[in-house]
Amino acid sequence: MRNISLVDLTEQHLILKNKIDQALNKIFSSGTFILGQEVEQFEQEFASYCDVKYCIGVASGSDAILLSLHALGIGSGDEIITVPNTFISTVLPILSLGAKPVFVDIDPKTYQIDPSLLEQAINQKTKAIIPVHLYGIPAQMDLIMKIAKKHGLYILEDACQAHGSMLENKKCGGFGDIAAFSFYPGKNLGAAGDGGGIVTNNKKLAEKIRVMRNIGQAKKYKHDMLGYNSRLDTIQAAILKIKLKNLDQWNAKRRKLANTYNKFLKDLVILPPKLDTGYLENFHLYVIRVSKRNNLLGYLYSKGIKCGIHYPIPLHLQKPLKFLGYKRGDFPIAEKMAKEVLSLPMYPELKKEQIEYICKHIKKYLRVHE
Ligand SMILES: *Cc1c(COP(=O)(O)O)cnc(C)c1O
Repeated sequence: MRNISLVDLTEQHLILKNKIDQALNKIFSSGTFILGQEVEQFEQEFASYCDVKYCIGVASGSDAILLSLHALGIGSGDEIITVPNTFISTVLPILSLGAKPVFVDIDPKTYQIDPSLLEQAINQKTKAIIPVHLYGIPAQMDLIMKIAKKHGLYILEDACQAHGSMLENKKCGGFGDIAAFSFYPGKNLGAAGDGGGIVTNNKKLAEKIRVMRNIGQAKKYKHDMLGYNSRLDTIQAAILKIKLKNLDQWNAKRRKLANTYNKFLKDLVILPPKLDTGYLENFHLYVIRVSKRNNLLGYLYSKGIKCGIHYPIPLHLQKPLKFLGYKRGDFPIAEKMAKEVLSLPMYPELKKEQIEYICKHIKKYLRVHE
């Protein structure tokens, strides 16, 4: 069997190639590559998909978080609560704005922020909570929102892995004051390069960010505020518009593949969390847990099966965050997960036979080594 990657985007491109070629030809003939109709249309369609009023296209998911925090007025001396088991882009923007990330541990049943630990992390300086819907599993937004409301805190959802994930029939990204999405190629909705989106129901925030992402320019050469050059490329918007139409179908395929994995791996490894009713995940990643994870990863690699680790080092132990003063042992659940999690290949075009092959090798390895 041919090598199996963690994510393979080639087949998906073949399916959409004609539509994408046409859209790109149109843009090249128009000679207009910044903002314009394609970006506006995608923004409207993605807002409507998320069932929120506004979407602003930006240059990346990292920028979506940065501009959201900036627009909320986060700055020096403020504290922002989030989790240590996420991609570093959840917290780098906090540091860029001179604010301080404060970590709380995760719930071992959901792998998401543990709402019961939130209140002890809140103080006078706390301004916002960033729940991350990690792997596309919705965080417990009902409990988180109750606490945020009680303490007057903003909620910025890091929905960079949660396109189309739902909680009680409501899409992730529609719960907080504002939410950040990434359209990095490997995300469930991915561009052909970097891209990001901010969604919100708050008109003032939306208007502010629309100016902010365009170098603070409300009208040409009239700058009303400090800003960023962080626009979603016209070309990327056109591609995303085409792909958005397939997102629900692709997510459904991912869920089906996850079920197939579950069947084959039952009783062999710790399967992805079984969620309460009302939760619908998008399986951005299919993550199992095993002891001796690194050895299994190496074995599968030798069989041409490329897995991933999301993420091997919790953020409180990463070099640029050492100055915060956290130490090993501070977040035992996130630290344990970092040693055990293994992301198996997952993308909508993955075949059942490939999953069978992957699981056969996991079984083989575990038989010999457990
Ligand atoms: C991908 C991702 C980001 C950053 O998005 P980019 O588009 O790569 O900048 C932020 N947070 C999480 C959880 C992500 O998975």
